Amino acid sequence: MAYDNNNVFAKILRGEIPCARVAENDHALAFNDIHPQAPVHILVIPKGRYISSDDFYSSAPAEEIAGFSALIARVARDAGVADGGYRLIANHGADGGQEVPHFHVHVMGGRPLGPMLSRGPAA
Ligand code: 5GP
Repeated sequence: MAYDNNNVFAKILRGEIPCARVAENDHALAFNDIHPQAPVHILVIPKGRYISSDDFYSSAPAEEIAGFSALIARVARDAGVADGGYRLIANHGADGGQEVPHFHVHVMGGRPLGPMLSRGPAA
């Protein structure tokens, strides 16, 4: 699967559509999710063209992975959820429910988030 230059996060990175920017470093950008599902719901995306977690972690240079990870930790701390706890979610592909084909991690917190998945059969 080729990277889609017209996905919504690519447009945000190019400044073609706005976002509520939270923080940034050389390798990653963080902004608020447009449909927050928790009091803190921040998306962290790499600035490079990576479709998914599989793509990013298997092909991004180490410094990009380090910069991306550092921004996740920083926004969680700055949002005030590091002590109380938070959840990181990276949906990959169809079964993972990934909607936007540019790798992103959801940083969610600010209230008890409940079980990891809605209750249902494992199989
Ligand atoms: P996924 O299901 O791919 O893991 O999550 C995509 C997320 O992107 C969703 O939580 C959705 O609300 C968010 N999103 C989709 N379009 C936009 C947008 O234009 N701006 C922002 N800030 N978030 C978006």
